[in-house]
Amino acid sequence: MARDAHRRSTSAASTPDSMDTMSSIAPAASASARLQDWLDTHARIFVLTGAGISTGSGIPDYRDANGAWKRPAPVTWQAFTAEPAVYRRYWARSRVGWPAFSTARPNIAHRALAGLEAHDRLSLLLTQNVDGLHQAAGSRHVVDLHGRLDTVLCLGCGDRHSRNALQTRLESDNPDWQPGPAGAAPDGDADIAAEAVAAFVPPHCLLCGGLLKPDVVFFGENVPRVRVDAAQAALTASDAMLVIGSSLMVYSGFRFARLAAEAGLPLAILNHGTTRADPLATLKIDADIAGTLAGLDACG
Ligand SMILES: [Zn+2]
Repeated sequence: MARDAHRRSTSAASTPDSMDTMSSIAPAASASARLQDWLDTHARIFVLTGAGISTGSGIPDYRDANGAWKRPAPVTWQAFTAEPAVYRRYWARSRVGWPAFSTARPNIAHRALAGLEAHDRLSLLLTQNVDGLHQAAGSRHVVDLHGRLDTVLCLGCGDRHSRNALQTRLESDNPDWQPGPAGAAPDGDADIAAEAVAAFVPPHCLLCGGLLKPDVVFFGENVPRVRVDAAQAALTASDAMLVIGSSLMVYSGFRFARLAAEAGLPLAILNHGTTRADPLATLKIDADIAGTLAGLDACG
């Protein structure tokens, strides 16, 4: 912040019309310059991304600019595994939401981070998203903190298979099912009528009859320790941390911002709206994510 303020004051002193010049700069360009300055002062960056980076790919997020729920909270592990009605509802909605989710494409923000990795600027890209869009954009060193929606796991026998293959089964098991009007929802979910849910036949494992679950971490479930350890090791070996597109309201992501602060690492946040880690940040940029990342040197 201080660095940026100094640059502006220097600029104002040297060019009489600089205020007009500044006011004509698009907010995203100004945000890009601030982020570029910050990146230029830190060699190896640990990046944490959230839903805000994928909204530009047409995947809705859960929270508003104040970090509050925009819609009903996601299903919990406890309800999904213990209540047949919740299990049925999850898969009926997923049957409708999957086609759009699975065909979403990376946007310029994902490609910008792949570009930074190609320039050897990232120690790790840790994402809370379950859409695989960082990998689709070309990022290689990625940890999917909350798993991936494109894989399905049997809770009975541990069998794993592709979500695309399950979609074929969901359709063949419900040949005459009519979901009716649907609204897009986060994480491959869709809003459909309760009557449609009641008529849906949910899937079970073909090998053991067990419950099937997308291989993602539900609310009420723990992140696998191996992912946390890998991320912590990378954070320890980093010069700074950058959070993009997350309110960090969920502890599993917030803890890394806290660890960075405790370790004395500079913490920058690019997010549209407030985040839980704002008091820890050394740089906060409240701006459009795709527009800001598109303006970085490594991404032009
Ligand atoms: Zn099974």
